[in-house]
Amino acid sequence: MLEVLFDAPLYQPVQLESDAASKVLRSLRTTGGQRLDRHCPACGKSTTWTAAIAAEDERTSKLEQAAVIGPGSGGPPKFNWLGDFHLRLYCARQMLHQCTLFFAIEAPPVQLLVENRMANADEKKPVPPTKILKVGQYPSLTDIQLGTLKEYEEGMSVQQRKEFVRAINTSAHGFNVAACVHYRRVFESVLFEARDAKLRAEGTAAWPEFEKLRTAERIAGLKEYLPQFMVEHPHLYGILSKGVHELSEEECGEAMPVLRQAIELMIQDKVDAIRREKRRTLASTLLAQTVDKHK
Ligand SMILES: [Zn+2]
Repeated sequence: MLEVLFDAPLYQPVQLESDAASKVLRSLRTTGGQRLDRHCPACGKSTTWTAAIAAEDERTSKLEQAAVIGPGSGGPPKFNWLGDFHLRLYCARQMLHQCTLFFAIEAPPVQLLVENRMANADEKKPVPPTKILKVGQYPSLTDIQLGTLKEYEEGMSVQQRKEFVRAINTSAHGFNVAACVHYRRVFESVLFEARDAKLRAEGTAAWPEFEKLRTAERIAGLKEYLPQFMVEHPHLYGILSKGVHELSEEECGEAMPVLRQAIELMIQDKVDAIRREKRRTLASTLLAQTVDKHK
């Protein structure tokens, strides 16, 4: 739940079953030590964020428990956890690096719930879902996601980086179909890069059949030159295309965190390969120097 809310753009409602809403929100607000791994803009690298419980929520939770287990208590607890609230997260590396999330709750009218409680089973009116909306986040999601991008810089061309930044910015403002367009361009660009690498490696100038191949076939033909994640998930392109042509803004929005993660993993594979190659080259050079020295 915390991850979903952390990665959601502002004002995008997340629906909760009204029956369970209070329980879910109570758990979100009073479970200490919830963690998630994301970039810390202040550290400039990835960190583990840990959620802290607000003092007032801790107090309410204790009072609630006391009411349930205390002598002579029979009735249900009086707290409904359906009010607006905030969560504060701390960077594992430095407690002063904090991220604060603000939430608003849209709950069904109390009047309706009271009437339903009084009504017979067949007279109960349908209860709309409770909605939780993130209405504020600092540092902003965009800053956190753009920071993540810095970690992948080595694995991206200038153009790929530009498309990635556009994807992050558009999805942060709720334009998720547009974000799919930009992510798809990153995907295509990585594919074309691999094609060029293959042509260079084989010393040929052109590969005319390439234009006629379907994306999955192109990926299969370029396996040795592509990031592993892309080879293992060729259908990612199909999902991005579906996002561009068929899916609604909401459907794209739901898929956005996982799509972004998939593209990140793809780039991460490229970064890993580049770093491994650099390490190998460096080790070879040093080894050669050592051998020379001891000849
Ligand atoms: Zn930090």
